[in-house]
Amino acid sequence: LLSADGVVAPTIFAEMSAAAVRTGAINLGQGFPDEDGPIEVLEAAREAISRGVNQYPPGRGDPDLLAAISEHQLRFYGLDVSPDSEVLVTAGATEALTATLLALIDSPDDEVVVFEPYYDSYAAAVALAGARLRTVPLRRPDFQPDLDELAAAVTDRTRIILVNDPHNPTGVVFAPEVQAEIVRLAHAHDAVIVTDEVYEHLTFTGPHVPLATLPGAAERTLTISSGGKTFNTTGWKIGWVHGPAELITAVLTVKQYLTYVNGSAFQPAIAAGLRLPDAFFTDAAAALERKHAILADGLRSAGFDVCPPQGGYFTVADASSLGGADAAAFSRALPERAGVVAIPLSAFVSPDHQADYAGLVRFAACKRVDVLEEAARRLSAAT
Ligand code: PMP
Ligand code: GLN
Repeated sequence: LLSADGVVAPTIFAEMSAAAVRTGAINLGQGFPDEDGPIEVLEAAREAISRGVNQYPPGRGDPDLLAAISEHQLRFYGLDVSPDSEVLVTAGATEALTATLLALIDSPDDEVVVFEPYYDSYAAAVALAGARLRTVPLRRPDFQPDLDELAAAVTDRTRIILVNDPHNPTGVVFAPEVQAEIVRLAHAHDAVIVTDEVYEHLTFTGPHVPLATLPGAAERTLTISSGGKTFNTTGWKIGWVHGPAELITAVLTVKQYLTYVNGSAFQPAIAAGLRLPDAFFTDAAAALERKHAILADGLRSAGFDVCPPQGGYFTVADASSLGGADAAAFSRALPERAGVVAIPLSAFVSPDHQADYAGLVRFAACKRVDVLEEAARRLSAAT
């Protein structure tokens, strides 16, 4: 986690956002929206601050948010979650993931299976927990995992199968047979399934299906999500994890010494968001899907080969035919060359597998339409 000179290396997202500021480029790198989310959510936070909700909240989270998470899981997925014992509020999905790994890893021989490319904090959190990372590749054209490769990765050493669905960076939504195989393997090898569902409401191919809804899955699944992506509040860092009470107790035991609690006034605001009518959620997905279409048109006109996503903030594109066979070098040069920032997929891939993703670049679509159109113009002019 340290760079060679012992200085903390910035994450790829921080590095690329700094490049955007330095060069004045449009930032399609780090995934954060450039517009505020629903007024009801913003007002609820202001109101909570005015009401004096500014001290430590209860350790598991604001009871109103715990209830809202439970209601939300029932309303959207038919999942029955006890707000008293089966939910924990965390400092974003990131803390939920890290606290879960720290809680469940017992020995340095434990393995965590992840799908590669993977969100950058996964490998870091697995290293912090002192476990081994096992990867299952997601390859073009559709980025679905190969079932034989998945089965080969899961063994009796597997403590956790970590599943990000919808997936950052590829945009894949796992097929039903992949989901079923994950649950079968978790049973066969007595592994815990940990899911990262932060893009649960941003799917373009039908409603999201949490792994915990599959037969036999809930008893061994910790489901993680957060309010950042759904309500355009990535800076608030209100996340949660739910699952069997004894696993939640283990995660709480770690969380209480990581951050203890977090974001008191933002918790009732996210509760208000989770209770918004269905139309809010379907409109948000439809708006993001339109943005992806605008981005994809722009990227194609500029000569990229686009991999359309099924969900989430990001579109992956192949820059090979634009001289971007080394997408890391291509992305580093792009702010100066085109006035646009993007992130190479190499940032989400372990050192041994870089070659498989060499020409691929990730673009964030969660930006205003005029910003995406201007980015498209700049890319076309520069390529
Ligand atoms: N998981 C994935 C897949 C993400 O893309 C992100 C970041 N945006 C996170 C987790 C982090 O979520 P949070 O900001 O709620 O910690
Ligand atoms: N999840 C965001 C992304 O993938 C970034 C969050 C961060 O900067 N850590 O772009």
